[in-house]
Amino acid sequence: MGATRADESMEANGTGAPDALEEACGVFAVYAPGEDVARLTAYGLQALQHRGQESAGIATGDGECLRCHKGIGLVTQVFDDAAMDSLTGHLAVGHVRYSTSGAAASSDAAQPHLSAIDDVAIALVHNGTLLDTDRLQRARAAQGGSMDTDTKAACLVIAEATRETGSVRQGIRWAMGELQGAYAMVLATPEALYAFRDPCGIRPLCIGRLPSGGWVVSSETCGLDIVGAAYVRDIEPGEVARLGAEGLDSELGPAAARRASCIFEYVYFARPDSVIDGQSVYQARRAMGAALAREAPVEADLVLGAPDSGTPAATGYAEASGIPYAFGIVKNHYVGRTFIQPTQAMRERGIKLKLNPLPSVIAGKRLVVVDDSIVRGTTSRQLVAMLYEAGAVEVHLRIVSPEVAWPCFYGIDTASRSQLLAAGRSVGAMNEWIGSSSLAFLSLEGLRSAVSGARHQGWCEACFTGSYPMAVPDDAPSSSTGA
Ligand code: SF4
Repeated sequence: MGATRADESMEANGTGAPDALEEACGVFAVYAPGEDVARLTAYGLQALQHRGQESAGIATGDGECLRCHKGIGLVTQVFDDAAMDSLTGHLAVGHVRYSTSGAAASSDAAQPHLSAIDDVAIALVHNGTLLDTDRLQRARAAQGGSMDTDTKAACLVIAEATRETGSVRQGIRWAMGELQGAYAMVLATPEALYAFRDPCGIRPLCIGRLPSGGWVVSSETCGLDIVGAAYVRDIEPGEVARLGAEGLDSELGPAAARRASCIFEYVYFARPDSVIDGQSVYQARRAMGAALAREAPVEADLVLGAPDSGTPAATGYAEASGIPYAFGIVKNHYVGRTFIQPTQAMRERGIKLKLNPLPSVIAGKRLVVVDDSIVRGTTSRQLVAMLYEAGAVEVHLRIVSPEVAWPCFYGIDTASRSQLLAAGRSVGAMNEWIGSSSLAFLSLEGLRSAVSGARHQGWCEACFTGSYPMAVPDDAPSSSTGA
């Protein structure tokens, strides 16, 4: 992937579309009477900014009503002191968004989504993608077809179910039987928070505790760290956890045929300082690099990481292979998504805005370049060309995931199957197109062994295998569901 974050990965592929799997949102919530819950949530969202940069929002509740502020841009662009000061209360839910369905960048699609169940205000934040089922379409139709995101439709389904069952938690449990797809959600009423995950547990969600006794919910543990919260546990697939005056109280909802947490969180999406289900993301990436060094050794002078997400894996590869690790590619962290070039010639220059090799390090050297994944391959191709231009004599690409040959329908924005370089191509053909000296991918077994420290070993691996753990859209490419 080379340039490897959503805000930096608009690639020179001639379409303006990203050459990367794009994160799909981060959620964060706080229940802490007596604390500045809005600012705590803003800090948490900044820690989760890598999961979405299109919009940010926070809603707070004070026991009687909800207040909300949201907008387009990064957390620091959306919130100033005046906005923070207006968000009073003892609980908050927040969201950073990268759109995968529904409306793209618009303040209307920004979350939290506000709604009501009779006269009780609710705010919903969502990481994932819901399948556009008949149930959701009926919810949209009931609103005159105006509901342009799956989150809004989910709100209506939950509201209807709450009216039927008489309680918000029972309403959520009932709605979970109706909603299909990947979701890690937090729903706020003025009095309490409800955090819940889909029955397969595709997207991560965890709970932490503040020193004051307050509660925190976050997509990743790096969000807990920034507010000084201690990790308590991950929310279980199918669990509905209520956080309120009585503390933490949870119930299990509908069971799935099998657990299927997204294994790609460890490869790329999550921050390396996060721990998911007991497995450190950083250590997993180092282990992936080490496993690949054993599976695909090569004689070389230096190991480089494609910054930033390839770096931990590169250090693992270097240690296992005995080839020195070197800092040979400098990344510009300030090239944003908005910097889409209008002409092909300028687009082709795109990667040079983000990555620049150091000739003094790599000239005359045989390089192993470790990256997390290949999507369309355009970034890899340009990176390899740049390394040769800078004087490398060999460039051996080592990818610490299997070939991405199938699209994701569970909250990650992938290219269509026809645009994925690995779809229908051999590794040899890919190597030839990219122009590398050799190309190798980590095996699925190697990837699984790198995350063997996780408490649960049920994975979604569908973008590698095409075997989807739950339903996919009707117009999806031919595949199988293992549900
Ligand atoms: S298809 Fe791939 S990216 Fe999507 S949830 Fe499954 S493992 Fe994760």
